[in-house]
Amino acid sequence: MGMGLKDTIRTIDAAFSYQCHACNKCCHGKGIQVNPYETMRLSSHLKITTTQFRHYYLKGQFLKHKENSKACIFLGTKGCTVHKDRPQVCRLYPLGRFRRDSGEEVFTELFPHPESKGVYGDSAKVKDYLKTQKVGSYLKAEKSYLKLIQKMAKAAWHDQSRSKSETAFFKSEDKTIKYADWVLDPDPVIEKYCQWKTIEFPLKIAQKLKLHIEALNAWADGKWNPVIDNY
Ligand code: SF4
Repeated sequence: MGMGLKDTIRTIDAAFSYQCHACNKCCHGKGIQVNPYETMRLSSHLKITTTQFRHYYLKGQFLKHKENSKACIFLGTKGCTVHKDRPQVCRLYPLGRFRRDSGEEVFTELFPHPESKGVYGDSAKVKDYLKTQKVGSYLKAEKSYLKLIQKMAKAAWHDQSRSKSETAFFKSEDKTIKYADWVLDPDPVIEKYCQWKTIEFPLKIAQKLKLHIEALNAWADGKWNPVIDNY
């Protein structure tokens, strides 16, 4: 989310509590970037494909705002319309998460909207807050994708006919092979992989996540190629 950060740094065991009073102020003026796992969850929530989701709801990798407004495209009159599948940053709010060079995971705190009705306290710990926000599957998926992207970048690096650097990896202008789309738009990759494995396209998110990562690992290992005609 693009917004001001306080200079408070908390570890996972630090005291922190937050009570949301559904004023929805935090759903305005933010840049909410979504990853492939979140794209899968949100598209499934909306009963559309990940390709359609990217087309209708994203600007680049960020959720669009409503027309002539700073409100998130998913903000309804009674709050978030995709609450069950809202992105990780929305779940963590008002905490921001990052990793120190040492690898330690720490949390910052975002400045609240001046009219926010959220109540801050110290009656629990950061880890308790994460638990109530159900971020476990999001953190696990994020870790898997990070590992996969590093592997894909390495595979592309070693293939002289493809991108020559990690930066170029995600900026490839190659019209046939757009690595970033393979990662950011899971459905077409999963579909091709399922055809290749002669298995049914999965409906459950956990299974989709598993197959997407398995498919792209297979590409990085040189075992399978998902060249997708309509990219
Ligand atoms: S996805 Fe939902 S919780 Fe997140 S900013 Fe949009 S409306 Fe708010």
